[in-house]
Amino acid sequence: MAFKKFTPRKKYCRFCASREILLDYKNVEMLKDFITDRGKIIARRITGNCAKHQRVLTTEIKKARQMALLYYTVTHSADVKKKTT
Ligand SMILES: [Zn+2]
Repeated sequence: MAFKKFTPRKKYCRFCASREILLDYKNVEMLKDFITDRGKIIARRITGNCAKHQRVLTTEIKKARQMALLYYTVTHSADVKKKTT
């Protein structure tokens, strides 16, 4: 065949794969991987997380938002504020 057959990359739950990753609201850098640039939580079918970990993750992201570690929308983001002021 002249063209390569498309094979989608196997998705896996990174929290199941590695016990080292701390699923916690204080681990903001990790949580940022699971939100869009607009601050939305990315769906499980895209990230490949398992149901159990996605459930924990969403509550941790919501906790982080409450603690002002993450933003609810981009207008609350520190990066946007820097540009406007
Ligand atoms: Zn998992």
